[in-house]
Amino acid sequence: MLDERSQDELNRREFSRRMLALGAGAAFLPAAALGRRGGGGSHAPNPIRIDRQRFLRSFNGLDDFGGTPDGGAHRPAYSEADREARGYVLELMRAAGLETRVDAAGNLLGRRDGTEAGRAPIMFGSHIDSVLRGGRYDGPVGSIAAVEVAHTLADHDVATRHPVEVVVFQNEEGGLYGSRMMNGEFSRDELTIEASSGYTIEEGTRLIGGDPDRLEEAVRRPGDVAAFLELHIEQGSVLYDRGLDVGVVEGIVGIRWWDVEVTGFANHAGTTPMDARQDALLAAARYVEAVNRIVRRRPGTHVGTVGRIDAEPGAPNVIPGRVTASLELRDLRMETIAELHEEIRAATRQIGSETGTEFSFELTVDLDPAPVDDEIQELVDASAQALELTTLRMPSGAGHDAQSMARIAPIGMIFVPSVGGVSHSPEEYTRDEDMVNGANVLLGSVLALDAELS
Ligand SMILES: [Zn+2]
Repeated sequence: MLDERSQDELNRREFSRRMLALGAGAAFLPAAALGRRGGGGSHAPNPIRIDRQRFLRSFNGLDDFGGTPDGGAHRPAYSEADREARGYVLELMRAAGLETRVDAAGNLLGRRDGTEAGRAPIMFGSHIDSVLRGGRYDGPVGSIAAVEVAHTLADHDVATRHPVEVVVFQNEEGGLYGSRMMNGEFSRDELTIEASSGYTIEEGTRLIGGDPDRLEEAVRRPGDVAAFLELHIEQGSVLYDRGLDVGVVEGIVGIRWWDVEVTGFANHAGTTPMDARQDALLAAARYVEAVNRIVRRRPGTHVGTVGRIDAEPGAPNVIPGRVTASLELRDLRMETIAELHEEIRAATRQIGSETGTEFSFELTVDLDPAPVDDEIQELVDASAQALELTTLRMPSGAGHDAQSMARIAPIGMIFVPSVGGVSHSPEEYTRDEDMVNGANVLLGSVLALDAELS
């Protein structure tokens, strides 16, 4: 096990060195200079950069569509602000020289041809819809950066082997709708679900130019996309707290939820002696504490939460006979989640025998983790290092369109710091410099991928 891991580590480092020495560096060069690739290497090529002013101007321009006076954004999917913002992004795509279209799922697409016929596109992008009264950075950073990367390729006449395809998915916040329509996981039963703007998914998809009757035309199969990259704000505080520039995402965590029921015996709070009680709420309190202790004592980035608890009958003068609660566990490895769950179950058996209660668990949500391709992690890391940025390998604890794309293509994700870790709030804030860094890492990663993909 250890040997395997250190071998893996060695391979990664080897790959990283190779990328820095040749791949990533050479890939930054415009096509005209590629002829020099592999020769000498005594002076490292200067990476091309995005146009900082244009990128920030384009990003700030999105505030005209759903920006709120408190510095946040209110752009729920299918709302007027969302629709107008999509028109604005299509204009930016055209200005970047991309060939634009709206697919049957209502996703915005902008394409630029590659030089080698028959190659699947390298796709990158994010979303521009927001939660109700949310932040202005969430999906827009990655979406506007994706357009800017394509614009930069055009500015520098960079010829890529693969076509590049910029995507802005529809309705990410409601449940990854656009990306799940693209990977084929979307079920037609979901068309009647009401989105936060009040429209159903079917109505909304039509409003943004999609066609719910022809959704299969939007589906991509494994092999149709060479790789997918997404730049996003971290939405947590790890990078900001540690003063790091860029997060190289190792994977998007798997999530399991359980409904937990604690059964005791409801009885008179005045007449039942303290040593004769079967208090379900007391047992539940110990359970909440046990979950936190078990999750924390194991090293790693996994998290565990009891977010809901409800005692019955819920009167001050009755010993609670029944408690319903929840358990949520998240980690990159399902094995960790399963092991933690077993430890928690063992603890509740102990608590049950001490309190005269019984615990039962019912699994209600079971989402697999989405792995990030190892080589793409190396290549994103190398692209950041070529820009002299500091990096950290980290899981994504939140869901993203990239996890849908992981079902059909190798993916990579780039995180930039969220100041204070605040997200889905008008207080959400990412510094200009960090957005620009993220866009440049995306550019470098696209070029490195284009050079390295076989
Ligand atoms: Zn997002």
